[in-house]
Amino acid sequence: KVVTRFAPSPTGYLHIGGARTALFNWLFAKHTGGKMLLRIEDTDRERSTDVATAAILDGLSWLGLGWDGEPVSQFERAQRHREVAEELVRNGKAYRCYATQAELEEMREKARAEGRPPRYDGRWRDRDPSEAPAGVKPAIRIKAPTDGETIVRDRVQGDVKFPNKDLDDFIILRSDGNPTYMHAVVVDDHDMGVTHIIRGDDHLTNAARQTIIYNAMGWDVPVMAHIPLIHGPDGAKLSKRHGALGVEAYRAMGYLPEALRNYLARLGWSHGDDEVMSTAQMIEWFEIEDVNKGAARFDYQKLEALNGFHMRQSDDGELLEQFIATLPYLEQPGAIPREPDAAQRAMLLAALPGLKERAKTLVELADSAQYLFVQRPLSLDEKAAQILDGDARSVIAALLPDFEALGEWSADTTEAVVRAYAEKAGLKLGKVAQPLRAALTGRATSPGVFDVLAVLGREESLGRLRDQST
Ligand code: GLU
Repeated sequence: KVVTRFAPSPTGYLHIGGARTALFNWLFAKHTGGKMLLRIEDTDRERSTDVATAAILDGLSWLGLGWDGEPVSQFERAQRHREVAEELVRNGKAYRCYATQAELEEMREKARAEGRPPRYDGRWRDRDPSEAPAGVKPAIRIKAPTDGETIVRDRVQGDVKFPNKDLDDFIILRSDGNPTYMHAVVVDDHDMGVTHIIRGDDHLTNAARQTIIYNAMGWDVPVMAHIPLIHGPDGAKLSKRHGALGVEAYRAMGYLPEALRNYLARLGWSHGDDEVMSTAQMIEWFEIEDVNKGAARFDYQKLEALNGFHMRQSDDGELLEQFIATLPYLEQPGAIPREPDAAQRAMLLAALPGLKERAKTLVELADSAQYLFVQRPLSLDEKAAQILDGDARSVIAALLPDFEALGEWSADTTEAVVRAYAEKAGLKLGKVAQPLRAALTGRATSPGVFDVLAVLGREESLGRLRDQST
């Protein structure tokens, strides 16, 4: 049975790279009928915060990436990490190192002078602890193999070989009794029964060191899959400008979780030429072997286009729920109430088919939905004012009696009125529709004007038209 995990460090929001790592773990777990666990790697007490943990859980929930069981706190497992470190010492796989700060600094200096990475020289590896100097608290170091190589058999990167002479006897338990990240991850993954580790390829070297700990404990090494990082469109490391934001920023920008899932999955994974995919399809198709080796490039335009597709494909009722759930996060809801009441919801639902045709994000949707909520008399934007400058107002005045005489008020009946009038007056339809649109919405662009008339209803439409008829 497959067990994956997502193991964020709660030192900031859930950024887009982390979200993709979580998504791949989640997709793989769903694909195989397994589980995805969540571990909060909060051992760095100075940088870890509860606010960040909450933001990560919130981001995952919004993205629809549920985890199995309770989140595990790595910090709370420190005692277990210490026990395993002691067990390794007892078994001769690790040892106490009494090197002083000054000695360690000397080793670093030497490495710097020789232009090579710093490396602990193993001076306490075989030394008798009875020789320990007084007053030095020991750290525990793993007894790493000194020759040959450690191979990480990676499902994405292939077999990656690390010469053991480059991997020193690294610390697993600090002299203050706290485990290092390297050690804690191994003990936790083992104890949580993790079978597959899917994470960013910046952890590849760690994977070699972690393999040494697994081997020292005689534990099975989980399947590893190190996925390439996300780069900006210019190939440079992803920056904020490029989209290295927290997922909540994407919510505020009006993206649907479904579309963001689709987009993130395609950042580094592909299934034939498929671009638009439902989550069910991604679950069905996801294979680790299809993850690309090269870095993925972030591309806002593609994200927008995908979001537009998903919006148009959405069921209107569901899209409305997403829209309303996003309203509190929008920077500029304008005239739209943050918490629409039943009548306002009904109006939004009626307007949605017209609105979603032209919007790529919920922010754009909110923008084109402004006309529903603006108050009479409408303030006209520049282009609308231009349209209504001159003869156009007489067109509206001439149409008013025909509208007022209408029995049933609908897109069809109002359209018939407008067509008949245009024909009688010898005007092109557009010459009539444009002033109507400007008067009804205060703008020069909007959903189809007959839809606008129908959604606003008789009373509001006639009121807005009368306001602009003189
Ligand atoms: N906590 C690590 C990070 O946020 C991930 C560790 C892992 O996945 O093994 O980068």
